[in-house]
Amino acid sequence: MDDYSKRSLENEKSKIEFALKIKDFKRRGFKIEDCFFSERTVKRIINVVVFVVSFAVTLFAMNVYKPLWDGKSYYIFPIFFLFIVAMPLHELIHAIGFIMRGKRWKENIRFGISIKKMIAYCHCSAPMSCMDYLIGIILPFTVLGVGLFVVSIVSGSKVLLFLSILNAAVSIGDLMILCLLFKKRPSFVLDHPTEIGFVALYEQSPETDVNSGATC
Ligand SMILES: [Zn+2]
Repeated sequence: MDDYSKRSLENEKSKIEFALKIKDFKRRGFKIEDCFFSERTVKRIINVVVFVVSFAVTLFAMNVYKPLWDGKSYYIFPIFFLFIVAMPLHELIHAIGFIMRGKRWKENIRFGISIKKMIAYCHCSAPMSCMDYLIGIILPFTVLGVGLFVVSIVSGSKVLLFLSILNAAVSIGDLMILCLLFKKRPSFVLDHPTEIGFVALYEQSPETDVNSGATC
């Protein structure tokens, strides 16, 4: 079986597992609500990211930052290299966030690329409290966006500053998911295996329980 067939099979498997979980939560009395972004919104997010990245790169190429970099425009190569490395790292940091909250690497974490949506993703299949989900989603923005920004200010590195801006731009989808999470404030969350977003689970009776404790 080739890689593509294997991936399609895995996708189908995770969709079935997800549907079974939703069915089980319904049976246990949870109210279910879909909280993910439409294809149109995803395209808008991509447009914003492409615009920010292109704008920053164009300014760089036009040597607008020349005085900042002392004219060393060859910095663009390490920046591109670091930015490309930062993409899988971004997804890996999502996984680390979920694992920090007790999820299991082998059973719960899945990585993939959606050609249709032009995104790489990290999916956690376990039901989560709002806090578990919040930490898993916000961690790459915190480390690669805010963290790099602070390091760039402390070290005075313009390269890191540029990199932190690019990384913050690619976290826009994550920040939108967090806005939705704060707005909905569900009892528990199931990360969606194929869409950008989650399914909100609202507890309706005191007997209902999932495998985690804290809520928002
Ligand atoms: Zn992300």
